[in-house]
Amino acid sequence: MSGWVIQGAVVPSVPVLGTEDRFPVRRIFCVGQNYADHAREMGSSGRETPVFFDKPADAVTTAPEVPYPPATGNLHHEVELVVALAKGGRNVSSEAAAECVFGYAVGVDLTRRDLQAEAKKGGKPWTAAKGFDHSAPISPICPRERAGAVHQAAISLAVNGLMRQQGNTSEMIWSVAEVIAELSRLFELKAGDLVFTGTPAGVGPLERGDVVGSRIEGVGTLAFTIV
Ligand code: MN
Repeated sequence: MSGWVIQGAVVPSVPVLGTEDRFPVRRIFCVGQNYADHAREMGSSGRETPVFFDKPADAVTTAPEVPYPPATGNLHHEVELVVALAKGGRNVSSEAAAECVFGYAVGVDLTRRDLQAEAKKGGKPWTAAKGFDHSAPISPICPRERAGAVHQAAISLAVNGLMRQQGNTSEMIWSVAEVIAELSRLFELKAGDLVFTGTPAGVGPLERGDVVGSRIEGVGTLAFTIV
């Protein structure tokens, strides 16, 4: 069977830290409410099992400027540890999950909080709240052999130099390995998958002109301006 090409079509990809390589993005999975303090600020007890949702692969952006999306008056930041998979599978054990990891990145799960609140109230999907264009700003991927102790790493986000979110990845309800294992019961995971692993407390609104600076110890930094 011969292939065909649409001129201008682009496979979304993310730079790999310290190399000329790029990581081609297949799917973006996200975990909701994976830190107890954030779950509480969103009105949960903090003990519910995390929810999974996704974003389109081309929602990733490494651009220094991120456009304020249309159709919202309450754009929120959620800083997250992102896991990039070198391989996947079905029913991966949490012991085998570590071997699936290619590397880690700093990501921000941008959220139209007003549309998410409406969706939650109406029992409707989160696509418009979470899966919009440019909704997944991400740092270059730090290969796992070069990353620090990501399971016990300070994670933070500041807006215009003022600290908004400050936590530690050790506070995750489900660990990276458990998230990969659980996702693989629902989806066949593959190389190129990204997993946003949830955000600590302190989420809040962004306005045009805001400078967002986020950091995960041992992984990297991510900075962008909302325009
Ligand atoms: Mn999130």
